[in-house]
Amino acid sequence: MTGVVRSGINNIYAVEADGLTYECRIKGKVLKDEERAHNPIAVGDIVAVEPDAHTAGRGVILSREKRRNSLARWNRNTKSLQTLAANVDLLVVVSSFADPPFRPRFIDRMLVAALSGGVPPLVAVNKCDLGRNPETLARIAGFRACGYPALVVSARTGEGLAELKAAIRDKVAVFAGQSGTGKSSLLNALEPAFSLKVGEISAKYGRGAHTTSFAAMLSGPAGFTVVDTPGIRELDVADVPVEELRFFFPEFTKYLPDCQFPSCLHRDEPACAVKAAVEEGGIIYDRYDSYLRLLADLEARREAAYD
Ligand code: GDP
Ligand code: ZN
Repeated sequence: MTGVVRSGINNIYAVEADGLTYECRIKGKVLKDEERAHNPIAVGDIVAVEPDAHTAGRGVILSREKRRNSLARWNRNTKSLQTLAANVDLLVVVSSFADPPFRPRFIDRMLVAALSGGVPPLVAVNKCDLGRNPETLARIAGFRACGYPALVVSARTGEGLAELKAAIRDKVAVFAGQSGTGKSSLLNALEPAFSLKVGEISAKYGRGAHTTSFAAMLSGPAGFTVVDTPGIRELDVADVPVEELRFFFPEFTKYLPDCQFPSCLHRDEPACAVKAAVEEGGIIYDRYDSYLRLLADLEARREAAYD
């Protein structure tokens, strides 16, 4: 039987197959090539399941199909790749105008994670009812200029939710962001049947207590299927080779052929068209700065791997 992984906690996965949900473990060493991964199976994975002959609703995962795409992060603690979701249509990066403060660099990282995993992203900036800071609005316009859809929304007043609904309709959309930005509130506003717990900001900030700690695929009568992910504090992007990072900043593309060196990393090299574009305002400085920081992170990680 083939099924879809809807959630997974401590190596026990809920797999939906033929309209039923099976509680499954992974059979023996069938996923050997995935040993380096933090989690060999992720929400959204399509897996072959063998139902248990003796216990109804139980089964084992025999194998998983090749992923169409995936959203992954580098897990600093386990030093391995953690897949948040697989085979999805959209990543909704949830952030907020305030409470917690707007963090464009975090969004930039999420966008790189999405593009490098082959998942189209959308930026949703929530809590617009708290006031719209012109700098934040300018950065939102910047995302749009880079080709990313970016919505101004409020789970509280409902502003922008019609656009968000239209963007996720008939898609499997992953919702991810920092804790407290209102991801659960947005999901509840889209589909009241989700009835996700809305957290108190102070409690969430304080000790890293999260209302959700595992990703889960949710569907409801309104027809939306989403993947809710745990609040993310810091995002380390997956292992993107430093030479390829530039391809995940789409606004760099048109300048790349004009760099003097084909291998230009757009940092210290002479006659760099990307740096020139930053100076002339064709590339947003903040985005370029995010690029440099990511580049430094990836290099440091690579060096650590050789130690
Ligand atoms: P999550 O951690 O991202 O899932 O965030 P929650 O949905 O739990 O919301 C965190 C806090 O922000 C709660 O106190 C919500 O009531 C509040 N909140 C969520 N959306 C909005 C919004 O659009 N405007 C305002 N002012 N507060 C919101
Ligand atoms: Zn360059």
